[in-house]
Amino acid sequence: MKKCLALILALAMLCTMGLACAVAEGERITGTGVGQGIDGDVVVEVEADASTIYAVNVVEQNETPGIGSVAAEQLPGAIVEANSIAVDGIAGATVTSNAIKDAIRQALTGAGIDPAPFEVAPEAAETAEKTAETLDCDVVIVGAGGAGLTAAVRATQEGAKVLVLEKMSMVGGNSLKASGGMNCAGTKFQAAAGITDSGVQEFIEDTMNGGHQLNDLALVTTMAENSAEAVEWLESIGAPLPKVAATGGTTHKYLHSPEDGSPVGAYLVAKLSEEAEKQGIEIMLNTKATEILMDGGAAVGVKAEDAAHDYTINAKSVILATGGFGSNFELMCSFNPSLANAVTTNHPGATGDGILMAEAVGAATVDMDQIQLHPTVYQATSMLVSEKMRSLGAILVNQEGKRFCNDLATRDAVSAAELEQTGGYAYIIFDQNLVDNNKSAKEYIEKGMAVTGETYEALAEAMGVDKDAFVETMNTWNAAVAAGEDKEFGRNNGMDADLSTAPFYAIQIAPGIHHTMGGVKIDPDTHVISTDGAVIPGLFAAGEVTGGVHGGNRIGGNAVCDFVVFGRIAGANAAEYAAAEVIAPAA
Ligand code: ADP
Repeated sequence: MKKCLALILALAMLCTMGLACAVAEGERITGTGVGQGIDGDVVVEVEADASTIYAVNVVEQNETPGIGSVAAEQLPGAIVEANSIAVDGIAGATVTSNAIKDAIRQALTGAGIDPAPFEVAPEAAETAEKTAETLDCDVVIVGAGGAGLTAAVRATQEGAKVLVLEKMSMVGGNSLKASGGMNCAGTKFQAAAGITDSGVQEFIEDTMNGGHQLNDLALVTTMAENSAEAVEWLESIGAPLPKVAATGGTTHKYLHSPEDGSPVGAYLVAKLSEEAEKQGIEIMLNTKATEILMDGGAAVGVKAEDAAHDYTINAKSVILATGGFGSNFELMCSFNPSLANAVTTNHPGATGDGILMAEAVGAATVDMDQIQLHPTVYQATSMLVSEKMRSLGAILVNQEGKRFCNDLATRDAVSAAELEQTGGYAYIIFDQNLVDNNKSAKEYIEKGMAVTGETYEALAEAMGVDKDAFVETMNTWNAAVAAGEDKEFGRNNGMDADLSTAPFYAIQIAPGIHHTMGGVKIDPDTHVISTDGAVIPGLFAAGEVTGGVHGGNRIGGNAVCDFVVFGRIAGANAAEYAAAEVIAPAA
């Protein structure tokens, strides 16, 4: 690849000097270019002449499955169709999109074709007339993240004809980014691991305490009581979560994750998508719902649009599964202006559409000002460093090389403690043993997020912190793990392994916007509740679009439990409502 790059660069220089740009109109040339993706080189082959791009093929890439890989699949076709590099990148996959575009520019230049004519943006699609189209189904589901996919599979199992709308060019939403696991209580996996002290009642108490008792107890109870069944249902569709660990903010072991330790979100989104495909569920990508259709006070469908159509989608029931609003700074700042300059871990589609659409038909909202900061976000790329790292033994130290809090307290408490440290940041420290047991840790290192050292002193030097203080911190921590007691800060979980296996690693992190706990008000049957306290017939909601489950602070692992439990309930109830509606007119 190096030789190829040198050749490309030489040709590019010649071209700039006007010596090699001799490609005539109609003379088709194939060139290769390289762009820098999120996980290394993205290599692209381009067939073009001076005025037309005929083909673009991504021949090598190692981008994130379901995110960057979507750009690699979709962007080349869009560029060929528009005959322009100046098309919109794939939202949520900006780095990969730019890598593909850079690679095309390089390929063209290297082949002696001036890329400038292809930098002109294609005519705006809005100028074209959209076609009006009407579609019919039993249940229309808005959003194909964890909640929407779960609801779609469940409703289809109940016999409903389901249509799923997803405004992005990929499924998964924020759920795809969930890196930890799914909290569940009273499961067979806990029993198999000999965990007997982490049942439904403890789960309810930990969730209520973690949420500062602001949570809706009925919703929390429903979530906890249905969690074991939910994890078994996941197993029934080929998505077992057999590994059990502790999570931040709890004293118990509820966090269920895949056998191979891979991040839970990408795993579940892939499995749910496979099951949806098996069931023949139609998922309309790049299709945004804009309005809930009402008739006589009941939801009877949605209006939606894509680049070429205005859809009227008639349905017997509607499920909102549009996620939260952690990427809508205007909306977040209307509740908490101090968030204006914070980074967000949220995908760009988390703009609160479902909440706004529901409010427009009279829905009530709860806890909209409760916006969670996650304490371990790598600021340069807004990438979340999973809480599971601390569950597996990692600790936090400040710029003085010292621990400063119970590293596994609730997210709001750890974030607040971090903001009080020098510079408002900290380092997460881990060792090779943890890396060997956690896929995500390997990924962080591969992405260049960590500094490393063969000794504590070397790591301290790489971090730029005081060596003596850091060595003392590490020795004190390892002794605390050996004794099973953290006298300094009272941490009482994630202490199964010390941090003594070289090499050692540190990632600089700070708080970032992570989860919007508030949203549409629902009852335990996932009915959307109106501002006057009544059920809005035909309208259901599940997942981050709803409020009340997490109160003032969400516990790690509860977002996944939320979307699986309430996604299943919404799917089953919306299907049942739709079936009842079919029978109703005859009565
Ligand atoms: P949850 O965990 O509740 O499922 P996610 O963020 O994982 O939340 O998924 C929500 C999904 O809904 C995202 O994929 C997002 O792009 C999609 N979405 C949001 N607003 C709309 C909309 N107006 N129309 C269609 N899809 C939407």
